[in-house]
Amino acid sequence: MNLAVIGTGYVGLVTGTCFAETGNNVTCVDIDVNKVERLRKGEITIFEPGLDVLFERNSKQGRLKFTTDLNEAVASAQIIFLALPTPPGEDGSADLSYIMGVAKQLSHLIKDYKIIIDKSTVPVGTAERVHAIIAENTSETLFDVVSNPEFLREGVAVDDFMKPDRVVIGTTSERARKVMKQLYEPFVRQGNPIYFMDERSAEMTKYAANSYLATRISFMNEIANLCEKVNANVDMVRMGMGSDSRIGKRFLFPGVGYGGSCFPKDVQALARTATDFDYDFRILNAVMGVNDQQRYTLAEKIKAYFGQDLRGHTIGIWGLAFKPNTDDIREAPALYIIESLLAAGAKVKAFDPEAMNNIQRYFGDQIELCKDQYEVLIDADALAIVTEWSLFRTPSFQVMKELMKQDVIFDGRNLYDLEAMAEHGFHYHSIGRESVG
Ligand code: NAD
Repeated sequence: MNLAVIGTGYVGLVTGTCFAETGNNVTCVDIDVNKVERLRKGEITIFEPGLDVLFERNSKQGRLKFTTDLNEAVASAQIIFLALPTPPGEDGSADLSYIMGVAKQLSHLIKDYKIIIDKSTVPVGTAERVHAIIAENTSETLFDVVSNPEFLREGVAVDDFMKPDRVVIGTTSERARKVMKQLYEPFVRQGNPIYFMDERSAEMTKYAANSYLATRISFMNEIANLCEKVNANVDMVRMGMGSDSRIGKRFLFPGVGYGGSCFPKDVQALARTATDFDYDFRILNAVMGVNDQQRYTLAEKIKAYFGQDLRGHTIGIWGLAFKPNTDDIREAPALYIIESLLAAGAKVKAFDPEAMNNIQRYFGDQIELCKDQYEVLIDADALAIVTEWSLFRTPSFQVMKELMKQDVIFDGRNLYDLEAMAEHGFHYHSIGRESVG
């Protein structure tokens, strides 16, 4: 099948590459000329494990192409994915200007039957709005609009796309349903389900899933905060809870709050939808409130230890990406922590295995970027661990002690064993566990 994927960011590039891998001809479109130029030269524009092999193979074999010309991509495509940004607007609602802008352009370009698929995360009713805009200039018999929300996780996006837990397809068109089934069948050969439903339910499913996951995170962060007060160990509590099959072990780790380009904006957007429909979604408001505070928890612990005025103190940061195995720093907790430390007068040194370029663009020379995790520690009064990259799990504590000015660690991801840290002689502060040293 011939596909066009409009928007070649994290979702668009992975979607396009994976559909090419199953034998489709894919043209990815982006308005960012520089991005398209790099992709054409064979340079991948994001860090995503496993993407390079598929990208190279499919580009070389001519199934994966890149262009800035929407016209050209749409003319030859039967299936058109919208993988465009839906950032939060000022009132928290999803900004649909990218989607609607492209829908308007498409309305002038459709000459034969095409399926337009919303892969972006969009509020309930968007498929209908996209349909209405395209229908302004095109016969309704020439297109269907389908909602097909994407559930991939950055860092494991290729695996998630190639072997999804489920595929959700919202369409009331029998013709579109048949094509979508054919398109996705290669990805669910192990028997994972393709759920067909109406467009609105599909749109709602994505927000419900992300908001539930964010709720789990905020819930566990509150449990952790309470554990600190009652002198319980959240890691024990987490395991005791999670082994209940009704709860499950995954996604129960407390930390420094959720971040990234999805959870914060999606929770906000669902809360906004609720408000628009006169529904007071109280849990979501609490989830957001807890997260707003939790993002600062490491900075607050650091200030509680050294004092509110951090002038003269150097704080090292391990991990800047919003989670491991990505270079994405959008809404990363590290941004909030670093801003808070800088505002208190601290000097900040930092390292991340993949996010250095992005963080350099964000903070410029306000912070010192280091070549590896040990350089961060030279003359540091404390280390703050923000992202749980595997690299940070078994460092040389001996070398760390030699390099640091003071042996103080604030661990936002509970990477280390309390007893071991006491034995190494660190002052060690983590999340939802007693401080040692
Ligand atoms: P992104 O910002 O990485 O990529 C969006 C791309 O669209 C950019 O390359 C941008 O240049 C391009 N673009 C903007 N306007 C355009 C236009 N008019 N024509 C062509 N290209 C245009 O965003 P993303 O992270 O890939 O997210 C895209 C959507 O998918 C969002 O709605 C997001 O909520 C959703 N989503 C994201 C993830 C994720 O993990 N990143 C997961 C599931 C769903």
